[in-house]
Amino acid sequence: MDGSAEVFSHDALAFSVLDSEVRLAILDSLYERTVASGPLAGNATYSTIKADVDVEDSGRFSYHLDRLTDQFVTKTESGYRLAEPGREVVRLRRTGVLTEDPTVEAEPVDGACYYCGSGIQAFYRRGYLVTWCPECPGLIEHELVADGTLASLSYPPAGVTGVDIETAFERSHRRAAQAFRAMADGFCPNCGHDVTATLPPAEGGDPGDDGYGFRHVNHDGMVRFACTHCGQRRISHPLYATDDRGPMADFFAANGLDPGWDRIAAVMPWSVTGDGDELVFEAPGGTRFRVDDELEVRRE
Ligand SMILES: [Zn+2]
Ligand SMILES: [Zn+2]
Repeated sequence: MDGSAEVFSHDALAFSVLDSEVRLAILDSLYERTVASGPLAGNATYSTIKADVDVEDSGRFSYHLDRLTDQFVTKTESGYRLAEPGREVVRLRRTGVLTEDPTVEAEPVDGACYYCGSGIQAFYRRGYLVTWCPECPGLIEHELVADGTLASLSYPPAGVTGVDIETAFERSHRRAAQAFRAMADGFCPNCGHDVTATLPPAEGGDPGDDGYGFRHVNHDGMVRFACTHCGQRRISHPLYATDDRGPMADFFAANGLDPGWDRIAAVMPWSVTGDGDELVFEAPGGTRFRVDDELEVRRE
């Protein structure tokens, strides 16, 4: 990768600037004063920030503020504001992903397993909100994943801290649904680059070297998304990832199925067959939905 050494050294320099409790406190103060306080809030003055971070020594405070200025903090005629990288740092810290590792034990949530019909449960461990069936093998077969896993969604610690697991379960599915829709539209919700969508190989075909995703999933109709830049990868059901458009939007609305778990649970048990480069799903009652390799869906 050309220029990677230079990128690394710039990134290392940026992270080194953050290696200070005083500087993180300055970013927090500026966030509260100029971002969280409302859109287009004013600047914060030197003395306000200094009082917030409670550093007596002016020389020491100025040194830390100067280190942040330009990259993370913008100096204006009347004070200071947070530059976008400074905002991102505060937001990232508040998600808890850097330092928190809460565990929430499995509890029943409102829904049924799309394979066996049992009541489902949800738990949170190591940054993942897991939707789990205690009665069957589930969807994902992998040594890192509990037997019975129906969905394993990356979710920030803040989303399960002070939020009950039922709510976190619902929100994690809605949040994932938004990411799937973006990826089905061809772009990465994380970095904005192009995303490739890959349907399973035709019957008997070789999933290839990067068959990760197809080999570990107990379902023949899942689509795999991969971002060409940041490497974000997701696996979903093509009729779920396109739930906001075309025939699937109509289908879900007509059947009163809200975005999130109810929709994925509805389509997962449908039978699927390959037809050339396309997949054909059959709903109970015989309605068929055909998906091509660009994720265009047609109702037949
Ligand atoms: Zn089950
Ligand atoms: Zn990306």
